[in-house]
Amino acid sequence: MSKTALAIDLGGTNVRAALVDSQGHILVKKTLPTQAGDGAQQILRRIIEVSQSVLAEAETPLVIGMGSPGCVDSDRGIVLFATDNLPGWRGTDLKGVLEKELSLRAYIDNDVNMMAYGESRIGAGTGVSALVCLTLGTGVGGAVILNGKIYRGQQYYAGELGHISINREGPFCNCGGRGCLEAYIGTAALIKQAEDFRKDKIDSGIFHYAEKNEGKITPEIIFKAAQDKDPSAQAILKEMGHCLGFTLAMVVNVLSPERIVIGGGISRAWDYFYPSLMESLRRQSLFGPERNVEVVMAELGPDAGLAGSGLYALEQAGY
Ligand SMILES: [Zn+2]
Repeated sequence: MSKTALAIDLGGTNVRAALVDSQGHILVKKTLPTQAGDGAQQILRRIIEVSQSVLAEAETPLVIGMGSPGCVDSDRGIVLFATDNLPGWRGTDLKGVLEKELSLRAYIDNDVNMMAYGESRIGAGTGVSALVCLTLGTGVGGAVILNGKIYRGQQYYAGELGHISINREGPFCNCGGRGCLEAYIGTAALIKQAEDFRKDKIDSGIFHYAEKNEGKITPEIIFKAAQDKDPSAQAILKEMGHCLGFTLAMVVNVLSPERIVIGGGISRAWDYFYPSLMESLRRQSLFGPERNVEVVMAELGPDAGLAGSGLYALEQAGY
């Protein structure tokens, strides 16, 4: 019988649970909508429900691993801070609830840390001792893995790469700061840049795709238009690359990682932002042309967090 973990990945839209084996394979997977607006008690109820539906189809796992948005005290398994995407989530004793309801030992961490852990064990981050991960989505998440261990820093706050500012007079960010990377390349920022083209009456393939989507622009639509050689869409992604490269240069100057792994939905537009990313990274980092830091696309896709949570829990529990 193989050693398995129950892995849980909580997002603002869905909560997913899976049975994960010691190689990081996903054996059974279930999904429920988070319906975050209902509050913490209802979210917890759905986490238990989706977990039980996995357990009903699986041999009993040895442990639970879970990734949650927000700042997580990974020693006590408590959410120290969460944004308004999950109202009332702050202070939730995840470890306590999961262990009581599911009668298994639970290991909890931030969702991006778990994704990075998965990539570091079986994905694009294997075989390096200093690894930085970024996820591009509604927000920009970050994680740092040093010598195979998640680097959490004081009070578990490390790794917030999305809130490195690249312009102190730049746009206000959700965090209250100004000019953060997230304020330039988060989903809302990318959509705003496309909307600005519309205001300037620039015709773009982005708007033709948006028409078929009730007028709504999405990062996916910007990517599609770029593939059609639309210059506006390609310009947005090129600028995104420059912002990423400029920010990563600061990370490289501090940590000098061997590899940087980039995941999340829009990372599929790789070919359109990678050249400008590397151009800015080389220009802005000290010894830039001599450094051989690799910047690569994540390999595990949306299951990275589940695989990482399962592997992390099994390893922490000594299996
Ligand atoms: Zn910020």
